[in-house]
Amino acid sequence: SNHLSLLPAWDDAEGVRRASDLFLATYGSRPDGVWAAPGRVNLIGEHLDYNGGFSLPFALPHRTFVALARRDDEFVRLVSDLGADEPWTGSLDDLGPGRAAGWIAYAGGPAWVLRDEGLPVGGFDAAIASCVPLGAGLSSSAALETAVALALDELFHDGTLGADDAGRTRLAAACVRAENEVAGAATGGMDQAAALRTTAGHALLIDSRDASVRQVPLDLDAAGLAVLVIDTRAPHALADGQYASRRAACERAAARLAVRTLCEVADPEAALARLDDPEEVRRARHVFTEQERVRRVIDLVSASRLSKIGPDLDGSHASLAGDYEVSCRELDVAVSAARDAGARGARMTGGGFGGSAIALVERGAESRVADAVASAFAEHGFNPPAFLVARASAPGGRVA
Ligand code: ADP
Ligand code: MG
Repeated sequence: SNHLSLLPAWDDAEGVRRASDLFLATYGSRPDGVWAAPGRVNLIGEHLDYNGGFSLPFALPHRTFVALARRDDEFVRLVSDLGADEPWTGSLDDLGPGRAAGWIAYAGGPAWVLRDEGLPVGGFDAAIASCVPLGAGLSSSAALETAVALALDELFHDGTLGADDAGRTRLAAACVRAENEVAGAATGGMDQAAALRTTAGHALLIDSRDASVRQVPLDLDAAGLAVLVIDTRAPHALADGQYASRRAACERAAARLAVRTLCEVADPEAALARLDDPEEVRRARHVFTEQERVRRVIDLVSASRLSKIGPDLDGSHASLAGDYEVSCRELDVAVSAARDAGARGARMTGGGFGGSAIALVERGAESRVADAVASAFAEHGFNPPAFLVARASAPGGRVA
């Protein structure tokens, strides 16, 4: 067996130490506190958030830690353990749309948005340390945004918004604005909701029509199961234009069917028969069948029959690869190698064209399945994948 790494999650103590040490080394003082927020995987319900449908993400044990201190002026300094040693320095105004670029948009964008929305946010220093893989479809961006937003809410606003779900919904929306308007990434609200509105031991059922949520108990341990996350490390350059084109096809199909979003369609069979553009038929068929799979998975999970969701995970992947055409060779190989090694079910998770897949495996089989996937990747000449084990973890909050 090759030297497999299951990427470990930092516990509170380790994350606090790393973020605080970076803060001290960079700014020569101690932070006012440390906040953390998790990455996520989506169990099922993919590409439904802009179609009026459901998604079912849960928080990873892997989190981004932000050590932060208030300043008495309007200056902001930002440093990350993944970037340069020298901190970025600017003003709150520099963190707005069209001004902040790259990672600064994710780290600082929430500050600009919160102030734009009337919160009394001032200058601050922040140091970021993270064990969430970047750009792997595991939502490192929302982990960063939401950790910063929680810190600012607490230090400048008495933690008013972080204290309850209504407030966290507002913080999540502010982070979506930061991602859309400042970072310029056209994403929905799943990632920020997962980071702020989940509870440990639960998946978060999100209804994209009104951003309402329901906690769905997800006890993998009790079922003798584990979710293995496979970060394919595949390069995904095409993703942006593809996302826009999927979205546009769904909007065209919805317009033809005279509904606002595809998930409002009452009779999918009849609707598909009414569409004559083959691309719109395929995209709509994914949306209709995926929404059915989410409903089935919710029923099974709620009935403690987690071991029976495998076929729906497999069905989701087949639909995303065939009808929605957002998979790629690395994701397909990851999924089939995991199944061949005994996974109960597997699917790509996230937007596609790279990123990560999840496999539902028996507890104790994580390394064996990971090993099989790594071997398959080596045979195909792909980059070596990375692995982590997901369990339904806690939402963002203060850790020191
Ligand atoms: P994902 O959210 O799936 O990881 P994204 O492309 O949405 O992928 O977000 C990744 C971007 O978020 C990175 O390119 C970087 O700009 C920013 N980012 C996330 N985590 C950190 C971090 N710990 N330090 C600096 N930048 C980060
Ligand atoms: Mg992201």
